[in-house]
Amino acid sequence: MNQSQKSILVTGGSRGIGAAVCLLAARRGYAVAINYASNKAAADKLATEIFAKGGRAITVQGDVSKEADVISMFEAVDREFGKLDAFVNNAGIVDQASQVADMPFERLQNIIAVNLTGAIVCAREAVRRMSTKRGGQGGTIVNVSSVAAVLGGSGQYVDYAAAKGGVDTLTIGLAREVAEEGIRVNGVRPGIIDTEIHASGGQPDRARELSHLIPVKRPGTAEEVAEAILYLLSDSASYVTGATLDVTGGR
Ligand code: NAP
Repeated sequence: MNQSQKSILVTGGSRGIGAAVCLLAARRGYAVAINYASNKAAADKLATEIFAKGGRAITVQGDVSKEADVISMFEAVDREFGKLDAFVNNAGIVDQASQVADMPFERLQNIIAVNLTGAIVCAREAVRRMSTKRGGQGGTIVNVSSVAAVLGGSGQYVDYAAAKGGVDTLTIGLAREVAEEGIRVNGVRPGIIDTEIHASGGQPDRARELSHLIPVKRPGTAEEVAEAILYLLSDSASYVTGATLDVTGGR
């Protein structure tokens, strides 16, 4: 790889917001590593689209809730790109809408493992590579939270909202911890964005059905969230760290 080309790894990069980030990053000149959990076809299709537009992309399978997968995912990026300039902690899941009183323990463990523990372990691996104190060249990290972190997710997914609250705290604490090591850490808090995550939670029409609750009266697009993420990754945000930006159409 041309060493002046920046590289980026996006977890959950194969679909939805992550895929929009990969496409926009490729358009802005990044070599892109697209992580996915199980849908190889979606990741391959996205990589093909990036190649067709003259970009560089690799796909990397890995479940962010498994430490061994996370380590091999970052090692694959080391091998292919030789460095990591930007990292987006985007992989996330919801479960069926439920009251806390009805949530099985296994569900709670899985929601926290993917949305929070996975995000922290991935951030750890990114920092190990980027930190100027550890031989790296600095870098930028964006954590994808959710407006649920501040609204609470009552009646639907308080477990997910609580995990995203943890992600917001990760952004604040890690940003301060690595500020002197050439790394900026920020977050975005999407509102209701039209992706397949709602179908995976058993509510395929959720984004449209809840439009009347959004001040701008429409769900957001994955591309609109990607624009905010690429801004935070860019040098235009050189003095922004520890911040989480709402991308919600007004909440
Ligand atoms: P999505 O369309 O459901 O896509 C999820 C992506 O994450 C897919 O690429 C999926 O891979 C990957 N993934 C799932 N579990 C994974 C795991 N254990 N390890 C690695 N990758 C995994 O979701 P989305 O709506 O784009 O959401 C992206 C992020 O935005 C999430 O963190 C979500 O919480 C947050 N967010 C979304 C909304 C919204 O309204 N859409 C609102 C607020 C926050 P496969 O393709 O292999 O399944």
